[in-house]
Amino acid sequence: MAAPTMAGEFEDVESFRLRAREWIAANLPPARSSSTDEGEDMMGSDFDDEAWIRARELQKLLYSGGFAGLCYPKQYGGQGLTPAHQKAFNDEVAGYEMPLLLNTPTFTICGPTILEMANENQKQEHLAAAIRGEEVFVQFLSEPSGGSDLAGAITRATRDGDVFVLNGSKIWSSGAYAADYALCLARTDWDAPKHRGLTMFLLKVHQPGVEIRRIKQVNGNNEFCEEFFDDVEVPVENVVGEINGGWAVASRQLFHERNAVGGGSPYESGNRGGLRRGAPAATLIDLARRTGRDRDRHVRELIAEAHAITKVQQHLIDRVVTGMRTENLPPTSGSIIRLFSGESASRRAEIGLDVAGLQGVFSAPGHTGDRENGEAFIFRQAGSLGGGSTEMARNIISERVLGMPREVAADRDVAFNQVRRGR
Ligand SMILES: Cc1cc2nc3c(=O)[nH]c(=O)nc-3n(C[C@H](O)[C@H](O)[C@H](O)COP(=O)(O)OP(=O)(O)OC[C@H]3O[C@@H](n4cnc5c(N)ncnc54)[C@H](O)[C@@H]3O)c2cc1C
Repeated sequence: MAAPTMAGEFEDVESFRLRAREWIAANLPPARSSSTDEGEDMMGSDFDDEAWIRARELQKLLYSGGFAGLCYPKQYGGQGLTPAHQKAFNDEVAGYEMPLLLNTPTFTICGPTILEMANENQKQEHLAAAIRGEEVFVQFLSEPSGGSDLAGAITRATRDGDVFVLNGSKIWSSGAYAADYALCLARTDWDAPKHRGLTMFLLKVHQPGVEIRRIKQVNGNNEFCEEFFDDVEVPVENVVGEINGGWAVASRQLFHERNAVGGGSPYESGNRGGLRRGAPAATLIDLARRTGRDRDRHVRELIAEAHAITKVQQHLIDRVVTGMRTENLPPTSGSIIRLFSGESASRRAEIGLDVAGLQGVFSAPGHTGDRENGEAFIFRQAGSLGGGSTEMARNIISERVLGMPREVAADRDVAFNQVRRGR
């Protein structure tokens, strides 16, 4: 293979594209099915252990070819390239099998948070391992008492010499059963106001005292997990950032999460597309043809609407991401693309079911793709909750982007143990 041509600091994007094209064609297998390879991330699809093993294998393959972690620094195993290189790679890899399961949260949320907030040892050990395909991350943020008020977390970590002892529970953790390490937010100081008594830990997921239960949803998916911590020991060296400074880490994590869910993460490798974000119009046209409804005026209008949503979303993502990068928009603007993603995912799912008609709930043998539209419809509200709810996104946009008055908070600056909770 030709040696990379360098223009200044980076390899020229077009020469990178050609090099990637050649490697991809020689090394990556064609995509196996829309649901596992091109269509979806873990939101709404039924992934089993085999799919996770396969994702790790593919990540190792990308690493061996020099195409893993394109936008991560070289000292942690990445390629130190730019979002433009990642975009070129994503274009080239369309139609090939990719480890899409590892994108969110491992590479788009936890990875950048570790890169920005963790210490050098943690980055060398965990970030590099993830890029090599040896570690998978999960987020332990939401709790049964509520996910929107993340700073109100009540999972407790009590210091005992060189360890913290963790007790409590987390819920809605996507893919926890298949993960190695979690970014886990816990309360370490109950006398401090809620934002100032939290600590973020890199928690080994499979260890004594951690019980993981998988949650089966109405669409059959069982990727969500809940975890129960019973005197789990976490070494002090696994604190990310400062002790009691966990909110600073969580804030960066939420920033990356909104970008990822909104479609603006530069760390996403491969095309997620599919029912949730990508270009469903082509899929819908195919579906309409198969069901003999491609001449139906209503169906044609729906397909045009789906196409328009996709185009508007692509432009919105470009504009917001550029605005944040050039500091013309505040970093909280990620909530704009996150909001659009939630609202449009729901509308797309409605359109998909409408076009599929009866096939969406009752598919003929060999036409499993039609049933996916029915399943996406059942799961459509997920896009309004995952990555923070759309209501919270609206709150952030009004307060932190538009500068409107802050929501009243009775617990601000009050010691957390004095805050009234539950009943
Ligand atoms: C697909 C998916 C993947 C997820 N993955 C993970 C994961 O990997 N790890 C993890 O920790 N969590 C994960 N979650 C959980 C997600 O972060 C929470 O569902 C979300 O933060 C909302 O929390 P909640 O469900 O507890 O709802 P609550 O916080 O109880 O909120 C209930 C309702 O009240 C509204 N509400 C609450 N407070 C306000 C307010 N101040 N103003 C206006 N409205 C308000 C909310 O918008 C919502 O409609 C995932 C969720 C989904 C759907």
